[in-house]
Amino acid sequence: MPLVPARQILDEARKGGYGVGAYNVNNMEQIQAIMDAAQKTQSPVIIQASRGALQYTNFVYLKHLMMAAVEDNPDIPISVHLDHGNNLESVKKAIDLGFTSVMIDGSLMEDGKTVASYEYNVNVTKEVVEYAHQFGVSVEGELGTLGGIEDGVGSGEVHLTEPDQAVEFMAETGVDFLALAIGTSHGAYKFQETPTLAMDIITDVRQRMPEVALVMHGSSSVPQELVAEVNRYGGALKKAMGVPIESIQEAIKRGISKINVDTDGRLVVTGTIRRIFAEKPEEFDPRKYLGPAREALSELIASKMRDFGTAGHARDYDPLSLEDMKAFYGV
Ligand SMILES: [Zn+2]
Repeated sequence: MPLVPARQILDEARKGGYGVGAYNVNNMEQIQAIMDAAQKTQSPVIIQASRGALQYTNFVYLKHLMMAAVEDNPDIPISVHLDHGNNLESVKKAIDLGFTSVMIDGSLMEDGKTVASYEYNVNVTKEVVEYAHQFGVSVEGELGTLGGIEDGVGSGEVHLTEPDQAVEFMAETGVDFLALAIGTSHGAYKFQETPTLAMDIITDVRQRMPEVALVMHGSSSVPQELVAEVNRYGGALKKAMGVPIESIQEAIKRGISKINVDTDGRLVVTGTIRRIFAEKPEEFDPRKYLGPAREALSELIASKMRDFGTAGHARDYDPLSLEDMKAFYGV
């Protein structure tokens, strides 16, 4: 199976009433863990790279790791997605690398920190949609801002999405799917207690735009046992709470199709490596701690694929090509 446009994966998820996780990747072990989990659970999957990940891997290494995932898993629908593109340049670079999906986050200015005006968001998103659709590449936009900062992205200010504006934004930009701000937050230190999310926003937007797939960022659950494991073996993470899995399932029921998860993977990898360093201080073969970390990450992601309802949907449909998508967009 070639790379699949995210638009198809998410439209199928929307129609099927399940969620698809978008998991961040930076290195080989993470990609292998995600693909192992997708195989085990027979799940379609979105692997996504932040601008930080692309820089860390000097672009070309990540590109080939992603393509290796496709070659090694011909029976799984995989979309390769740019997370939080900040301008047309970053989107162009991702499309040149072979990504089948990009996000343009026009809710923030190019610095990824300053909250942008609605007009700015519409203009930059429209520009990206026009460019990306020429190649059949799917586009995610964002309206409203999340709390928290991750990979240098985030203003720290929360502005919830206004459903009226979401309808207007979709009409003006033509994005394929839309990230809503419903009170989640990027990074590990999301909340001090279980958050109350503005679930009504999802229901409201879904009712007004039943055909549009919706996205939830900052959706790690920050399981307390993972935080405890890191701290038990010498870590110093502060008290942190994420979005409980029940809330994510509720959000999926109300209309969320794409769920972004990064922090939980970081936690399980760190906890596993710390435990092995503590228990086997004589070990110095990186495979002996990166291997178990990869396995633990795969377990974690497989459980998310089951919880989100993605499991078992890998063979539901024949993949569309980017050429098919060009015809769909009429370009
Ligand atoms: Zn995000």
